Amino acid sequence: MSGGDMAKPLLDHRNTEGDPSITPAAGRSIGVLGSGDFARSLAIRLVCSGFKVVVGSRNPKRKASLFPSAAEVTFQAEAVKKTDVIFVAVFREHYSTLCDLADVLAGKILVDVSNNTEINHHKESNAEYLASLFPACTVVKGFNVVSAWTLQSGARDGNKQVLICSNNQEAKRIVAEIAQVMGFTPVDMGCMSSACEIENIPLRLLPAWKIPIFLALGLFLCFFTYNLIRQVIHPYIREHKNKLYKIPIEVVNTTLPCVSYVMLSLVYLPGVLAACSQLYYGTKYRRFPDWLDQWLQHRKQIGLLSFFCAALHAVYSLCLPMRRSHRYQLIETAVKQAVEKKMNIWVEEEVWRMEIYISVGIIALGLLSLLAITSLPSIANSLNWREFSCIQSTLGFIALVISTLHTLTYGWSRAFDENQYKFYLPPTYTLTLLVPCTVILAKVIFSLPCIQQRLLRIRRGWEKGRYVKFVLPSATGEYSSGETSSNV
Ligand code: NAP
Repeated sequence: MSGGDMAKPLLDHRNTEGDPSITPAAGRSIGVLGSGDFARSLAIRLVCSGFKVVVGSRNPKRKASLFPSAAEVTFQAEAVKKTDVIFVAVFREHYSTLCDLADVLAGKILVDVSNNTEINHHKESNAEYLASLFPACTVVKGFNVVSAWTLQSGARDGNKQVLICSNNQEAKRIVAEIAQVMGFTPVDMGCMSSACEIENIPLRLLPAWKIPIFLALGLFLCFFTYNLIRQVIHPYIREHKNKLYKIPIEVVNTTLPCVSYVMLSLVYLPGVLAACSQLYYGTKYRRFPDWLDQWLQHRKQIGLLSFFCAALHAVYSLCLPMRRSHRYQLIETAVKQAVEKKMNIWVEEEVWRMEIYISVGIIALGLLSLLAITSLPSIANSLNWREFSCIQSTLGFIALVISTLHTLTYGWSRAFDENQYKFYLPPTYTLTLLVPCTVILAKVIFSLPCIQQRLLRIRRGWEKGRYVKFVLPSATGEYSSGETSSNV
């Protein structure tokens, strides 16, 4: 957010002072040290929530006009004297300049709102550092995960969660109460040792997306190079034909469905591997290797990227006939046929192949869209567990099967045509079939009653080699108990 933006409050305090919809708090006095962007937004939000705000600045006269008229702007020592809960809205580097206030701060609650510029920048968290500078105060870490922007827009917009931690339960409760009155949702993150983790949160850049994005880029690069060799380099070397014009659209458009299709199968492959591991070890209580755990956790992102590539493929495909090169090729073919006096160019098999191939492709894209929509938290929250797993698991698997049909009808008999093997390289779609077909085959095997039953028992807690109590009726009709291996 630019400094210019910050100068204009999102929530105009003059308009909200008389707003009856804003619930006044108990009228507690809250101190804010600092008069920067965060302090200003915080003061506005606190005033709007019914708190009395006293801002402590090194230069109160100059800064007073930036704050709502209901907030008192005074010197730092004055502000600290008048309040018991004080938000420290200054950077960590300047904490030591507050040491002169140590006596007046003694016994008060300090709320550390600071962030760092790098993950794990300092050995100890900012909050722990503040606590070491002011041992007579109680420090609470909180509000750093909300931005100045979110503070001003309050409960209507942005992140509503405020993560809080402290070694003092009472201080934590008071700060949580303040957050709640301000329209936020306080989340108790435990004791002060969590401060470092809380301070790292705003610095993370899409942590769950890194692996899926690298995976998609890696696959894109591999398939792009493969298609480039087949579609551009091969005709250049063998026939001295310049096909560079194919790179921006045709090569990209043959690469995107490959990435999308393989990524979709990679959503279901870890589930297959997990099932294999459970069947092999005969238990669900054995931890999966870390890489499989990570893979299982990234399935949603991998699926969404698969949908993204499929959507791009659909748009690229629709644009294919718009290209000038396509028009030239059409005219060229028409002229050739006219010269050869060919009247009937209709090939029934090709017509059917294309109709089925496009229709199946549209259905696959529709199913992928449904999967993508239902993975959005707002939609997912409205589904119960059975509905969610049915859509994501069953419908997802159907999408994989239909995508396979799309690929097979696209390829048709070309896999058996030796002209398609450029530099002995098989057509790209035959390579993409490997992983999805493995997944489909594994799923079919898992659905065989003998394997399905065993997997179900394992997932309900049965373990191979574990002795379980059994009860048998005796000849007299009485029941006798004994022990046996559940494996038998
Ligand atoms: P800022 O605009 O630069 O304000 C910092 C304030 O610190 C100054 O206005 C200054 O107020 C005060 N200060 C006290 N002693 C100082 C000294 N020795 N040298 C310089 N300034 C001193 O920064 P900010 O964006 O408000 O951020 C303040 C804190 O909030 C930081 O710890 C930041 O990590 C945290 N935070 C900010 C945001 C955000 O969106 N901006 C979000 C989350 C957390 P006086 O001149 O009046 O004393």
